[in-house]
Amino acid sequence: MPAPKVQALRALRCRTYATTSRSALTSTARAKAEQISSEWKGTSATGENTKNFIGGEFVESKTSDWIEVADPATQTVLTRVPETTNAEFDQAVASASEAFKSWKRSSVLTRQRFIFELQHLLRKHGDAIANSIVLEQGKTFADAQGDLLRGLQVVESASGIPTALLGDNIEVSKDMDTSVRRLPLGVCASIAPFNFPAMIPLWTIPMAIATGNTLIVKPSERDPGAAMIIAELCQRAGLPEGVLNVVHGTVPTVNAICDHPAIKGISFVGGDRAGKHIYERGRKTGKRVQANLGAKNHAVLMPDANKNNALNSIIGAAFGAAGQRCMAISVAVLVGNAQTWIPELVERVKKLNVNQGFEKGADLGPVISAASKKRIEGLIASAEEQGGRIILDGRGIQVPGYPNGNWVGPTIIEATTDMKCYREEIFGPVLIIVPADTLDDALAIINSNPYGNGTAIFTQSGATARKFENEVEVGQVGINVPIPVPLPMFSWSGNKASFLGDVAFYGRSGIDFYTQNKTTTSLWKAEDAIGNKASVDMPTHH
Ligand code: NAD
Repeated sequence: MPAPKVQALRALRCRTYATTSRSALTSTARAKAEQISSEWKGTSATGENTKNFIGGEFVESKTSDWIEVADPATQTVLTRVPETTNAEFDQAVASASEAFKSWKRSSVLTRQRFIFELQHLLRKHGDAIANSIVLEQGKTFADAQGDLLRGLQVVESASGIPTALLGDNIEVSKDMDTSVRRLPLGVCASIAPFNFPAMIPLWTIPMAIATGNTLIVKPSERDPGAAMIIAELCQRAGLPEGVLNVVHGTVPTVNAICDHPAIKGISFVGGDRAGKHIYERGRKTGKRVQANLGAKNHAVLMPDANKNNALNSIIGAAFGAAGQRCMAISVAVLVGNAQTWIPELVERVKKLNVNQGFEKGADLGPVISAASKKRIEGLIASAEEQGGRIILDGRGIQVPGYPNGNWVGPTIIEATTDMKCYREEIFGPVLIIVPADTLDDALAIINSNPYGNGTAIFTQSGATARKFENEVEVGQVGINVPIPVPLPMFSWSGNKASFLGDVAFYGRSGIDFYTQNKTTTSLWKAEDAIGNKASVDMPTHH
């Protein structure tokens, strides 16, 4: 039996945040919020509850423990997310277990057709998903569309599932064959972070389902809307009930996932603390676990770089999505003369428009919560206290019309690698600048950092790029490319402290993660095939 969820933890949790009335939304935002509530069964942006999705039904939770989701630009409460109860969680697992019996036997072409239909519906309803992301997460509309599109690419690559699941077969001895089949694991679970509410669920839903598994998704409790719309689109695409279920909540729900014996695999994306906990707790009960964790991504600017491209690239990668991307460039290592580019960098960054995500010309929105804003501002202050140089200070920024937003303006700090602002993942619009004399010095800085998610170099020299690519110990490398996220014909390849597990997300690794091999060795001796002439006598079965 799964371990009971810790009820006491719930009672202690503070779930209500400072909120303002719905009228704080602009008329544009209000219209989009109303549209979301009226068109989608599982989510709301007008204050009603988010539902669980269990056994093909969007059901209201019976919990007494609700978490408010507030628009980070105005603090307007958009919806309330349940801490799914033990009974509801068990129902979701039971439903996924029941559905697995038939889904695992569905033909690979049936699963491929589902993927085709899902990709069509995601494109058709992309704006609804993006609207939900702008409201709950705070991204700009264009960035929210990008969030969905990067997930859609995984859906599209999953349409090649019949080829991806082809097995090997060889005659190993005279008349003896061995063949391998790639079979699903069973019920799997996917635990998502707040920063890509569409992309991360779409890293796992198509891969798990196309390979014949059933899945329980637990979206971030801070922005579950996109996942709920995606779940409804899966249903509309013809997915049988129970193949996909969505439950909600925080630590108790996550622990229930880790402990339930029927769950065979967990995909986690999020921060270090939760990731280590889930990896250890999930492995204890024998589950396969893949966990993408935090990051500190360095971009090296060589003095021979194309300055215009290099500066624009790192500005986009550092401040886009308010720095809340696991592949955001959070450190710029300026080598030699590239250090003279700082004033130009600052001038360009000052032109970025911080605003609510539906506002025209917005480059970056608010950070996810007031607590996050406070933490980011604390890290900026720590740089000041430890002798760092604040070149551009985004604290205290005002955005007209949005007095209550979680605003942090773009910030640039020159620091050294022993300072707290360098050592910790800030996850906000803050770029740390570290000077270096040579490429070797830059490589030493990056390779001493515990994280290994992404890195980039800007140079016009092939030799420099090649040396960097060979010697840097980070799993995803960009050469004149600031955010080198591999497309899903490849697999995610973050390493070192940015990943726990053995098998990565999506692409070929994604197929490997969600399947186990079964080999069959069979012997059919040729001499046992008797008779070389058809018998025309009445068969008597003697
Ligand atoms: P988070 O770790 O706070 O939350 C992620 C998920 O874990 C959520 O569903 C949450 O409910 C759950 N959770 C949170 N704390 C928990 C705990 N103590 N025990 C069990 N479960 C817990 O992460 P976040 O703030 O939502 O997302 C930001 C983090 O995610 C950043 O560190 C970022 O680098 C990382 N991230 C990594 C990647 C990657 O691919 N490497 C991608 C996106 C985000």
